[in-house]
Amino acid sequence: MFETLSDRLSGVFTTLRGKGRLSPADIDATAREIRIALLEADVALPVVRTFIAAVKQRANGAEISKALNPAQQVIKIVNEELVAILGGETRRLRFAKTGPTVIMLAGLQGAGKTTLAGKLALWLKGQGHTPLLVACDLQRPNAVTQLKVVGEQAGATVFAPEPGNGVGDPVAVARAGIDFALEKHHDVVVVDTAGRLGVDAELMAQAAAIRDAVDPDETLFVLDAMIGQDAVATAEAFRDGVGFTGVVLTKLDGDARGGAALSVRELTGQPIMFASTGEKLADFDVFHPDRMASRILG
Ligand code: GDP
Repeated sequence: MFETLSDRLSGVFTTLRGKGRLSPADIDATAREIRIALLEADVALPVVRTFIAAVKQRANGAEISKALNPAQQVIKIVNEELVAILGGETRRLRFAKTGPTVIMLAGLQGAGKTTLAGKLALWLKGQGHTPLLVACDLQRPNAVTQLKVVGEQAGATVFAPEPGNGVGDPVAVARAGIDFALEKHHDVVVVDTAGRLGVDAELMAQAAAIRDAVDPDETLFVLDAMIGQDAVATAEAFRDGVGFTGVVLTKLDGDARGGAALSVRELTGQPIMFASTGEKLADFDVFHPDRMASRILG
């Protein structure tokens, strides 16, 4: 991911090398090139505008630095602005003060929610927690089985409706899952929910009903970083329909242009909290804006 953007930006910086000083015309030209690079990477237009305005303002106002040449100064500014649009600081998971911490997962089908449930379970166990996975995706035929598989791989208990009971009521399963966690002393509950191929009202209503039933401490919107421009509309629909407290970017190992990753924080106002970088449960970590920015700048 981000290869085209990285190449483009490094091309921009190369043209600045060897310049003794940047004229306003140089800064304008550089800003234009960065703008094209971001747009080509599918970064949402409002985010590009904010980004470019900040870079220009800072580059024009930059004090003459003895330590940095103009190219280095621009790289520093772009780096800091990238960190800023990615959220600045790492946002850690918030745990409930009493009772189990409830984490609800929401997102489109195929975004990687069920896989993420397994990843979170493994990660939480590594931090000394005793997670319970609750199977509330009763739409996709294999979702419950898949959750059981990832739960087993992570060594975590999975709470699921018994097979053969028809479609089942995800809200009732969610409630029963919380009761089970209380009874068995699981300190974190991860609630997997159903996703559809596209945003639809029924999906949103179901996710909202589960949210109301479990009163989550965190609702994580799971976003496939490969989906490009559609990411913006999807994120906004989930923000308005269900609401979320954080974003998990999945499939960051893919070769998409990465604009979704760069736009979602700024557009939704919610932090990117975790990053998923592969199909294996261990391909997962807390999201660090500064590391992502360094990766983009190569
Ligand atoms: P759900 O419908 O949201 O529950 O999505 P799944 O968890 O079933 O994931 C859909 C597909 O994406 C599966 O084939 C996963 O193995 C794959 N997947 C999930 N996360 C990642 C990731 O970070 N990288 C890659 N390459 N594949 C992933």
